[in-house]
This record gives sequence, C-alpha cells and structure tokens, in this order.
Amino acid sequence: MDGVTNLIGGKWLPSASGSTFESRNPADLSHIIGIYARSEAQDIEAAVAAAQNAYPDWRRTPPPERAAILFRMGQLLEKHKERLSILMVEEMGKVLVEARGDVQEAIDMAYYIAAFGRMPFGSVVPSERRDIYCMAQRVPVGVVGLITPWNFPIAIPSWKMFPALLAGNTIVFKPAEDTPQLAIEFVRLLVEAGIPTGVVNIVTGYGQEAGAALVESQGVTTISFTGSTATGRQIASRCGALLKRVSCEMGGKNGIVVLDDADIDLAVKGALWSAYGTSGQRCTAASRLIVHRDVHQKFRDALLSQVASFRVEAGTNPEAQMGPVINRAQLDRIHSYVELGQREGAKLLTGGKILSEGGFEKGCFYAPTLFDSMTPQMRIAQEEIFGPVTGIIEVSSFEEALAIANGTLYGLSLSLYTQDLSRAFRAIQELEAGIVYINLPTSGAEIQLPFGGVKQTGNGHREAGWMAMDYCTEWKSVYVNYSTSSDLVRAQIDVHPQKGHNT
Ligand code: ADP
Repeated sequence: MDGVTNLIGGKWLPSASGSTFESRNPADLSHIIGIYARSEAQDIEAAVAAAQNAYPDWRRTPPPERAAILFRMGQLLEKHKERLSILMVEEMGKVLVEARGDVQEAIDMAYYIAAFGRMPFGSVVPSERRDIYCMAQRVPVGVVGLITPWNFPIAIPSWKMFPALLAGNTIVFKPAEDTPQLAIEFVRLLVEAGIPTGVVNIVTGYGQEAGAALVESQGVTTISFTGSTATGRQIASRCGALLKRVSCEMGGKNGIVVLDDADIDLAVKGALWSAYGTSGQRCTAASRLIVHRDVHQKFRDALLSQVASFRVEAGTNPEAQMGPVINRAQLDRIHSYVELGQREGAKLLTGGKILSEGGFEKGCFYAPTLFDSMTPQMRIAQEEIFGPVTGIIEVSSFEEALAIANGTLYGLSLSLYTQDLSRAFRAIQELEAGIVYINLPTSGAEIQLPFGGVKQTGNGHREAGWMAMDYCTEWKSVYVNYSTSSDLVRAQIDVHPQKGHNT
C-alpha cells in the first residue's frame, strides 16, 4: 500500500510518476507514519476527470439522499473518534484532548450540514407582475478543489467538504503534505458512508506540484484554500486570472485585550489557552496580549508562573499540556522570530529556545515563550509566527487598546476581558475581526457560527454556519409565467404606465 494513496474514480492508485513522500511524527522524527503518492498535474487531471464524470448524477441526487451519507459520516467519525485522535497526535502532534476536539468538530459539522438536506435551499419572492412566479435557488458550482493545511487535519476538510457535497458538487481534495494519513482516513470513512464513486477524490502531494495543478486545472470551477497568506495570495491571483471562484482563509495576528476591570484569573486562563494551545499553531492563536498598565504586573506574574511550569511533551502522554510543532522548518522559523523579538527590544520572560535534550532530541519541540515590553510596531507584534510565542503590550486606556488590537494587516479573532458592559459592546462594534470574543479567549469557534476573517485574513468568504453554503453554490433566479393571456408584460416598463415628459 506504500504510496498508493490517491483515490481517483473509486480506485486507490500511486502517482503517475511513481514518486512518493513520507509523513513523520513531529514528536519523534524517526517514526514514519507512512509513504504517500507524490502527485503532479497528470494525477490531478485524472481526479478532475473522475469528479466531472460523477457530477451530473450527484447534482441530480435529492439533497436528503446526499445528507443521509453525511449523517452516516458523522456516525462513522464518532465510532472512529478515538482511533483518529490517536493518529492525529502521532501525525500532527497536538495533545490528545485537542485531537479529540478536532475530530468532534468534524462530527458536529457532519450532523449540522446533514440537517440542511431538508431545509430550504432558496427563496420564493413576490413578482411585480401578475401571474408570474419568482424563485431563487442555490445550485452547485461543479468540481470543487480543496487545499487544506495540517493544523486541523480532520476539522478543516470537514468544513470545506460537507457543505460542498450537500450542495451537489464533486470534490478533488489535496491535503497538506504534513498530514496525508489523516486525510486518507477521512476519505476512507466517506467511502464507507456510501459516497458514490468519483464524488470525492483525493490526490496527495506537495503544494507547488499537486496544489498548483489543482488551481490551474480547467475542470475545477472553485478553489477553497486554508493556509498561509503568501500561498493564499498566490492562489487567489491565479484564480483571478482564470476567473475561478476562490475562498481563502489565511493568516492572523490575533490579540487579547485585558482591561483594568478584567477578571485576571479568567484572562490568564484564556491567554494560556489561546497562546499555547496546539503549540500556538491555531489560526486563532493569540500572539499579542494587550494589557492595561494598572493590571499589567498582576497579569504578567500570574501568566509567567503558569507558562514556566507548562508540561511540554509528546501528546500521547495524558499529562502533556503542549506537544511539538509540526516540523523542523517551522521550529527554525519560530526560533528566528524569537531572536528577532530580542533584537527588536522585547523582554524575554521565559522560553525562547528549541528543546533538544532530555527526551526532546528526536522531535520538534519549542519552549513556550513569553515576551514583555513588546511594542505594537515590532515585527513580532505584526507578523504571524504560528508557534508557542506571545508577548505583552502595555497600554494606558481602552481607546489605545482598541487601536492597537486593530493595528495589524490581519483580522481573524480579537478578544476583550472586562466587566463593563458599555466597553464590551463598544469593543464589539469597533474591533476589526471576523470573530470577537468577550471574556473568552481568541480560540473556541463553534461550528454553527460563520468562521473567517477580515482584512488580509480572508477574501470575503466564511466557513461553517449556514454561510458555508455560499462558497460552493451559485444562485439561479427563475421566473415562470403562468398567465393565460398572450400579452408580453415587461418588468419595470409595462408595470408602470409610461408618462413621457411632455404628456
Ligand atoms: P503552511 O506552510 O503553513 O503549511 P501553506 O499555505 O504553504 O501553509 O500550505 C497550505 C496548503 O497549501 C497545503 O496543502 C500546501 O500543500 C498547499 N500549497 C502550498 N503552496 C501551494 C501552491 N503554490 N499552490 C497550491 N497549493 C499550495
């Protein structure tokens, strides 16, 4: 089975070139999870052809029938939750409780979207003319290409795939090269749930090869991408030139504001979770803590004592609070940001090093890192690091805190801790983010609400919530004349008797 990992038109195949790549456990790089097809344009084109073949029949399948498969998928994900969670700890590195949360998100998404199978897909609206029936219906867009990251290896594919399938689209899925095994397991469960041949195809491989070929493929009408801003910009530009629909969910520089009246214990717990959960590798990770000077010392000391005693270990250990980061390249990148932060004048309170001794030798572990005296214009306060690194920015007022919170190119998630209702609601209005939390950390989205960001985090689309149907459907407006008269009645013209200027 080594390298035979592309599901194309119902058959598991190797790449046309026969090339392969490996996935390794980031907690122990000597542990090879598996060997996967390293695919290129030829493989992508075969998968797109299979998806195109399957499309007419799937499009005509009644939504409740499509939904029934998603419902079974939810049941299968529940059945396999523990096995998938353990595999996720091994392939991606997050700790077991978080891995279970990742799978649970896909279960929630399956049931939520399955329910749409019997919900209104469109609207009937009154006509301005007599005996005309007007309706607008959602229609599928055709073959949808999905390009996903490694940080939520089960949840993110579910966000993209389930709405697209319910809407009647067929899929070519190119998962992240760091987590192909989880993607394959996900697709196997869909097959077991009864997804018809060719409706979901998976092609494993690298972004520059398989991913880029998927974007270029003429048969793909829509791309849904989650990943870095640099890659998203490149994909969106190509989709612009090719006039494809594209939904991009990209970087963030999320922040937590702690005001002088905040419940500090609660804020510290929130900061710990948002900054170091998933080793800081969540799109919603808080890498800026914007703290009022009156509570700065109390907040900093409480947070520091917690971070300094944080348990970093392979996620298989139930005691572990934080696992490794995804790979060596990311480890080096995180460390170079920490060195940059020190050169920029931020004060390193704890962490700041690659953990390479005492059981950490074989993996990609980074010490949870906390800076103080970070200023808003430092690069570590502006650029996404995607690791267990955060810093405190001290502020003197509510207004200054809001301005700093909004002062980045990104706009995914911002949070504010206060007991003051008036300031809470002002912040809800003023914060420039797709997701705002009050007295909660920047991470913790529920699937029935839209997820996505403003500014350079997104390009106007949302995942999850019923809005998830938008990226993968077009609207078709339909007018039906049921009059028995042979008169043509023109909209706008014949409904308002013409009054010329000189009559
Ligand atoms: P990261 O480096 O954080 O993994 P990327 O944005 O590079 O983030 O990767 C996210 C997804 O995009 C992965 O599935 C990757 O293979 C894919 N990808 C990377 N580069 C390209 C590209 N040029 N075209 C299409 N997909 C790409």
